[in-house]
Amino acid sequence: MCEFCTEHGEGKKWYLQMKNYSDVLLHEQLSSPEKEMAGATTRLEWIQRYYEEFIIPAGIGAHPPEASQAGPSPGHEPAVQPSEEEVLARRKAEEFGQVLPIEDVEQVIQIVDSVTRMPCGCRFVTTGKADKRYCFGFGVDKLGILGKFPDAASCLEVLEKQEAMRILHDFDEEGLVHTIWTAITPYSFIICNCDRDCMSYKGYIEMRGSPRFFRAEYVCQTDWDLCTGCKSCMSQCQFGAVFYSSALSKVHIDPTRCFGCGVCRAVCPNDAITLVPRQDHPEAAGIWLRDPAG
Ligand code: SF4
Ligand code: SF4
Ligand code: SF4
Repeated sequence: MCEFCTEHGEGKKWYLQMKNYSDVLLHEQLSSPEKEMAGATTRLEWIQRYYEEFIIPAGIGAHPPEASQAGPSPGHEPAVQPSEEEVLARRKAEEFGQVLPIEDVEQVIQIVDSVTRMPCGCRFVTTGKADKRYCFGFGVDKLGILGKFPDAASCLEVLEKQEAMRILHDFDEEGLVHTIWTAITPYSFIICNCDRDCMSYKGYIEMRGSPRFFRAEYVCQTDWDLCTGCKSCMSQCQFGAVFYSSALSKVHIDPTRCFGCGVCRAVCPNDAITLVPRQDHPEAAGIWLRDPAG
């Protein structure tokens, strides 16, 4: 279990705890240090600002900001450059993610109030595309932001849960990594579906910057009795964890690189890939952030 499970899930998966989606957390007055960090008095205020600064511009399709000027976190940056440890601690407290396999996405969708599909702020910034709806916000109707989308009808979709899962399964087959995000931890407000156009992915994985999300509570492994070496799974992996052995005509998943997203399974014709709990895997247990070699 990751540290959020210990701190916010009482030893169970933190993102499956109802209390982390509660109205009490949403409306609770933040502590003084949290207010200072977030530049907001409540989580609701923080989330409203997140939508106004990051999602609504993508819905409008205005000229995208420079990637260096935009970011998923709308918190105020401190005047003095913080250390790497301070940056990570702040991210974990303010807005942090975790990779989820589709089975756990399904469980989250079952417990949230409602699901609204909306424009992807990252892809708007990194690709200029304003019509890419990969973000699935929870309980958006109670956040008081719907009226702020100038043309909500054309960029927001309130989905039945069954329809949300159908789309999320399509994303899984497409190889998009599912991530869940906090808004002043541990409140959980959105599931994202990301690839290399994601600003958090770019900053953390590509540029090897400060971590933005935990790996999943799982890790994948291949059954060599079933693998025929077709290599289909290799192009699904956003984390470079799948290796091909020409001599054996099999693939190997490096457990120290695997983030446990599980999307490689969706394209395996032989069901040769399975998810196992990270804590039960001798090489992957305890690895929650970037690969140790990094
Ligand atoms: S985290 Fe993913 S889905 Fe969410 S805004 Fe960024 S790229 Fe889009
Ligand atoms: S090998 Fe691991 S990180 Fe790569 S797609 Fe499969 S589960 Fe995700
Ligand atoms: S998709 Fe399945 S059969 Fe093909 S290489 Fe990957 S694990 Fe092996």
